[in-house]
Amino acid sequence: YYRRSWSSDSSDSVISSESGNTYYRVVLIGEQGVGKSTLANIFAGVPDSVDGDCDMLGENTYERNLMVDGESATLILIDMWENKAQDNWIREQCMQVGDAYLIVYSITDRASFEKASELRIQLRRARQTDNIPIILVGNKSDLVRCREVSVSEGRACAVVFDCKFIETSAAVQHNVKELFEGIVRQVRLRRDSKEK
Ligand code: GDP
Ligand code: MG
Repeated sequence: YYRRSWSSDSSDSVISSESGNTYYRVVLIGEQGVGKSTLANIFAGVPDSVDGDCDMLGENTYERNLMVDGESATLILIDMWENKAQDNWIREQCMQVGDAYLIVYSITDRASFEKASELRIQLRRARQTDNIPIILVGNKSDLVRCREVSVSEGRACAVVFDCKFIETSAAVQHNVKELFEGIVRQVRLRRDSKEK
C-alpha cells in the first residue's frame, strides 16, 4: 500500500513539484472554540484573526511556504472542520484528504480533550492502512489559571495515540511556529522511512 498512498497516481496526497518543493495537506480538527482558526490565521500571517481574511485557496484553506531544516516545504492548511452547514460530507473529506493532522483541544476545557481522543479513534478508523502523522495540540497555554488538563495528561494521551504532543498559545503566539515546523518534520520522517 505504499504505492497506493505515496506514489504518483491520482490518489497521491503528497505532491512533489518539479522544483523539488513538496506540498503537504495539513488538516485542523477539534472541538469548536479550541483555537483552530486562530492558529490557522497565525499560520496565514494575519496578526488579528478576521474570519474569511487571507484565504488563499478558497474558503478556510491557507497555503504557506516554510523552510524547515534547510529544506523547503509548502503547507496547505485546511480549517474546515467547523463548517456551519453541519455537513458530514465535509468532515468525511477532512478525514480522507490530510497528509497530516493537528488534533486540537483547549487546556482549559476537559471536554475538548476527551473529544480529541474520539477524533483520534475516528481518524484511525477512516485511514486504517495509513501511518498518518498527527500532533496532539493543547492550545490556550496562556490561560494558566483556567487549566483543566495538565501537561502530563496531554503527553500521556499522545503516547497512547502514538503521536507527538505540543502545548501552544495562539493568543500570545507561543510554540505556534514550532507546531507547524513539527508537522513538516513528522511527515518527512514517515516519507523517509518509506523510501528505504
Ligand atoms: P475554533 O472554533 O477552534 O476555530 O476556535 P477559534 O480560533 O475561533 O477561537 C475560539 C476563541 O478562543 C476565540 O475567542 C479566540 O480568540 C480564543 N483563543 C484561541 N486561541 C487562544 C489562546 O491560545 N489563548 C487564549 N487565551 N484564547 C485563545
Ligand atoms: Mg474555527
